[in-house]
Amino acid sequence: MVTRRTIIAGMASLPLAGLVTTTLVQAQDSAVPNTLSTSAGDVTVHPVNHASLVLEWDGKGYYLDPVGGGDLYAGLPAPAAILITHGHGDHFDLPTLEAIGAGVPIITTQEVFDKLPEAFQANATVLANGDSGEIAGVPVRAIAAHNITEDRMRYHPVGVGNGYVLSFADKQVYVAGDTEPTDDMLALTEIAMAFLPMNLPFTMTPEQALEAANTFKPAILYPYHYGESDLSPLQTGLADGIELRMAKWY
Ligand code: ZN
Ligand code: ZN
Repeated sequence: MVTRRTIIAGMASLPLAGLVTTTLVQAQDSAVPNTLSTSAGDVTVHPVNHASLVLEWDGKGYYLDPVGGGDLYAGLPAPAAILITHGHGDHFDLPTLEAIGAGVPIITTQEVFDKLPEAFQANATVLANGDSGEIAGVPVRAIAAHNITEDRMRYHPVGVGNGYVLSFADKQVYVAGDTEPTDDMLALTEIAMAFLPMNLPFTMTPEQALEAANTFKPAILYPYHYGESDLSPLQTGLADGIELRMAKWY
């Protein structure tokens, strides 16, 4: 039986008094990583909420699905790039973009592009599934994000949403968006860090996420977008070599 170390990332800056459960104490050590080292400096992960996160690299903020209002992002590096996976309200929120994203380059889907005001469209690039681009010095590939289970297809049909693989120097970070395990996801290789969504009926079960992770084997796995899902299958079933990082998303 392999004992797996579960890491609570992104909590080091919180006051210890706010964290009461004893099981988390060892993980609050300031030495617990929330970073990914690359050949050009660390990527620092800032979980914001649910599906929203900021990756900080080279002094720049790469914002994924920023929603929730501008105040949530106070204190984080200003956005150098914004990537939006699809148009659902927990991923795309125009008032938040208006608060933080004026003049910032955006990569998104056709569906979201069509909902953007002209001022934002002027800075936005559409990537279809499988397309490649670049934003703020980082190559980006759009990975198909959709449901595969028949009675969930209406939530995320084929061809609408993107996940993104961002290449920070020599390391690839995959932010999956709302999806079940697609062929594109399962074919990924050399992913240094992956963010996989759970919560039914919209995305995956923890068991599906576990199977996907054990197939494409990211070096680091962050569950996100999981709501009330029971993540215990991930805590016991991940293949050797995959580091599970349980961050504070909610
Ligand atoms: Zn969605
Ligand atoms: Zn969602």
